[in-house]
Amino acid sequence: MERIALFPGSFDPFTKGHEDIVLRGLKLFDKIIISLGHNSNKSRYFPLEKMVANIEEAFAGVDKVSVITYSELTAELAKKHHANYLLRGLRNTTDFEYENSISQVNRHLNDQLETVFLITSPEYASVSSSIIREVHKYGGDVSDFIPYKL
Ligand code: ADP
Repeated sequence: MERIALFPGSFDPFTKGHEDIVLRGLKLFDKIIISLGHNSNKSRYFPLEKMVANIEEAFAGVDKVSVITYSELTAELAKKHHANYLLRGLRNTTDFEYENSISQVNRHLNDQLETVFLITSPEYASVSSSIIREVHKYGGDVSDFIPYKL
């Protein structure tokens, strides 16, 4: 059976830390579907469709990686795509506390679903979407932190 993983997140924006998780995840999974969750009540800083195109550019030629958007339960999305795994990254204990609860809930909602965590590579441990948004907002150069050109 094909091992299909969803890599769900806001990706506002997608960073080199996220890219690293996907590239390492490719050693574990046959297919990774990067899934950008969107919520009509929550506005984004980087527009959704533009971010999809940026991520597609970052993985051009890697046919095991695809990019989609969704606005439903991640556990349901996984069923639709026959994905038995959720891929997530962990940087620190704050990530762990949050990830621990959502992975328990996701497994409750879909008992076929296992969340697989990869620990961040040290060079990306301090890369976060929120800091990149802040730097970008004030005109700073964020190109070292993202795997595509804005
Ligand atoms: P969410 O809004 O669901 O937390 P994010 O887009 O912030 O989504 O992150 C998606 C996933 O990537 C999360 O599991 C997060 O912990 C992980 N992640 C974020 N930044 C990094 C990084 N620099 N290194 C490793 N994992 C990361």
